[in-house]
Amino acid sequence: MESRNFIDGEWVDARDGATMVVRDPADDASLASVPRCGAREATACVDAAQRALGAWRNTPAPERANLLRRVADILRVRRDALAALITSENGKPIEESKGEVSYAADYFVCAAGEGERLVEETIDPRGRPFARRATPECLGVVAAITPWNFPLAMMARKTAPALATGCTQVVKPAEATPLSALALGGVLHEAGLPRGVVNVVTGDPQAISDAWLRDGRVRGLSFTGSTAVGKDLMRRAADQVVRLSLELGGLAPLIVFEDADLDAAVEATVAGKFRCAGQTCICPNRILVARPLVQPFTRRLAERAAALPLGRGATPGTRMGPLINDAAVEKVRRHVADALARGGRLLCGGATVPIAGGCDRFFAPTVITEVNARMLCFREETFGPLAPVAAFDDEASALGIANDTPYGLASYIFTRDPSRAQRVTAQLRCGIVGVNTCLVSDATAPFGGWGWSGFGREGGRWGLDEYLSWKYSCHAVEAPHS
Ligand code: NAD
Repeated sequence: MESRNFIDGEWVDARDGATMVVRDPADDASLASVPRCGAREATACVDAAQRALGAWRNTPAPERANLLRRVADILRVRRDALAALITSENGKPIEESKGEVSYAADYFVCAAGEGERLVEETIDPRGRPFARRATPECLGVVAAITPWNFPLAMMARKTAPALATGCTQVVKPAEATPLSALALGGVLHEAGLPRGVVNVVTGDPQAISDAWLRDGRVRGLSFTGSTAVGKDLMRRAADQVVRLSLELGGLAPLIVFEDADLDAAVEATVAGKFRCAGQTCICPNRILVARPLVQPFTRRLAERAAALPLGRGATPGTRMGPLINDAAVEKVRRHVADALARGGRLLCGGATVPIAGGCDRFFAPTVITEVNARMLCFREETFGPLAPVAAFDDEASALGIANDTPYGLASYIFTRDPSRAQRVTAQLRCGIVGVNTCLVSDATAPFGGWGWSGFGREGGRWGLDEYLSWKYSCHAVEAPHS
C-alpha cells in the first residue's frame, strides 16, 4: 500500500514532512500516515500537470483510450485487494467495495470509447462561402476534489473523462479516505500513464484548493461533496473564472404510489437506503407512501431493516458497516431525536449497537413513521441509516412534497402505471429518476443534479463535456466561379 503523494510520476512526502493519520472507522485503528500537504505541494502538482499537458493532449485519442482500458483491466485484476483497502478506510461491506472497484473500472472503459468517438464537426455554411467547423479541445489542467463515501469511484468518474479528452489533472481526495485515491494513482502509473498527467496530493483542503483556484493555469474543477463546500468553491472559483462541475448533496424523495408492487418497493428501498450505511448522496431521504399502504409498507420495511446484519465491513455477510466518524453518528442521533420529539414513531433502530472490538459508530438501521416536513430529517440530508416515512393522499400532493426543496439530485417512484411513471418523472425537479428501482448509477449514464445538488454531469458522453471547450472556426472560401 502506497501512502505517499503521487506528484510528477514520483512518490513524495510533504516538503516539511508533516503527516496525518488515516483511521479505520470501525475501531479507530491507525491504517497509515499520509502527507499533510498545503499550497506548495498543490502548486508543484499544477507545475507537473502543465508540463505534461502538451504531449498528453497531442497523444492520439486511440492511444489514450488504450491506456484507459489498461487501467480498467488492472483495476479488475486487483479488485479484491482494492476492495479490502476501500473497506478498511471507509467501513462499507466488502461486497459493496468490490462493486465500487468494478464501477470505477467501468468509467475508464466508457471514457475510452467516448474519447475515441469525439470528432471535429462540420457546420453547414447556410449558403454562404464559408467552411465552418466545431473542434473539441481539452480545457487543459483540471482539478478534482473527491469525497470519502466512494473513495475510488469518485476519482475514477473525474479522472477517466479528463484523460480521455486530453486534460491533465491534479486530485485531492478526502482526508478520511486518501489511500484508495493513492492506490488509483499507482494503477495509472502501472498502466503507463506519462509522468505528471495525473497528480494526487493529500492534506489541507482549504490551502490546496486555494492554491489551485488562484493559480490561473487550472481551468476546471470537478468537485463531489457537500453543498456548503460547493458554494464556497463557486465563490473562490470566480476570480480566475474556473469552469466548475459540482456534484453536491441530495434530499431524494422516494414515492410509493398505491398501485406499486409493495414487496419490490420495500426491497428497493432497503437496497437504496442502507447502502454504505445511508451515506450516499442519492440515498432516499424522504419516503412518501400512499396512505392506504403506509402500514404494510412500514411494517415490512422495519422487518427487513432490523434483520440487516450490522458489523465490520470485512466480516463476511455484513450488510451495513460503521458510519465514517463521530460527527456522522451525532447527526443521525440529532435527526432521530428531533423526529421523535415532533411526533414521529420509531419502528426499529434509533441508536448505535455495540460491535465486538469496534467503536460506537454502528448505527442500527432505523425506520421512523408519521414524519412531517417540519422535521430535520425531511429538510436536511441525514447521510446515515434513517428511513423516515410520511403518508400522502394524492399524486399532486406527493409531487408537491417531493419538489419542496432547493435540492434535486435523485428521486424514486414506485408504480405499476406507465403513464403515471412518465407524468411524475417529467414533473420531478431533479437530475436522476429511478422508476421501480433505486439502483440507478451506471458509468454510461449522465449522473448529476439540479439546484443545490449542483450542475455538470458525470458518466457517458456527457461526462466528457465537462472537460471540453469547443472551438468554432469559420473559413472564408472563394466562391466557385460560374
Ligand atoms: P465535504 O464537502 O466535507 O468533503 C468533500 C471533499 O471536499 C473532501 O475532499 C474534503 O476534503 C473537501 N473539502 C472540505 N472542505 C473544503 C474546503 N474548504 N475547500 C475545498 N475542499 C474542501 O463532504 P463529505 O463529508 O466528504 O461528503 C459528504 C457530502 O458529499 C454529502 O453532502 C453528500 O451528499 C455529498 N456527495 C455528493 C455526491 C454527488 O455525486 N452528488 C457524491 C458523494 C457525496
